[in-house]
Amino acid sequence: MTEQVATNITWHEGTVTPEERLKNMGQKGATFWFTGLSGSGKSTIAVAVEQVLLNRGHHAYRLDGDNIRMGLNKNLGFSPEDRTENIRRIGEVSKLFADAGVLSIASFISPYTEDRDQVRALHAENGVPFFECYIDCSLEAAEERDPKGLYKKARSGEIKGFTGIDAPYEEPANAELHIKTHEDDLETCVAKVIDFIDEQNLFA
Ligand code: ADP
Repeated sequence: MTEQVATNITWHEGTVTPEERLKNMGQKGATFWFTGLSGSGKSTIAVAVEQVLLNRGHHAYRLDGDNIRMGLNKNLGFSPEDRTENIRRIGEVSKLFADAGVLSIASFISPYTEDRDQVRALHAENGVPFFECYIDCSLEAAEERDPKGLYKKARSGEIKGFTGIDAPYEEPANAELHIKTHEDDLETCVAKVIDFIDEQNLFA
């Protein structure tokens, strides 16, 4: 747990009600948390899902691992501690987006169950819907794809602590959605995510 450092701070409540926000946005916000191996298809599916939602007039926004590491989290690496802090921060950001009424699609390897559970708990504490979406792919298939050439580097030792090779990936035990990208093609995977989103009664 990250310690609260500042003292003498008080939560300042607003006046906007969840009902007002729903009416204003035409939807309720939520976080769809994509977790899975590098190369499993998180970013590819997230891009397509975001586009479908936008085309339908919804408010959606993607939060993506590498993109966030180039900005907000540029001071973090891939040690276990940094991975945990990476997920903690992005969990907070995603919760803010969702609280603002946006469908936040967060794509992060997020290999540790405990870190994902903390993000889930953070959302629950704030009454913000959270859905863990396991973007599952066998290591063999992900390594075969190797879209960024990272597995090759990990196998040769150029990259250390790479998830699935010499760092663990803890599979979700209770994900709300399980997508298998080594079994279904991209179009089918996207359709399954969209169907799942539609089932959550988020739209006014
Ligand atoms: P991640 O974000 O999980 O690291 P990427 O989305 O960057 O993964 O890369 C996944 C790669 O796998 C892309 O090159 C994509 O075209 C390919 N791919 C093949 N089949 C699928 C599928 N069913 N769903 C998603 N991506 C797929």
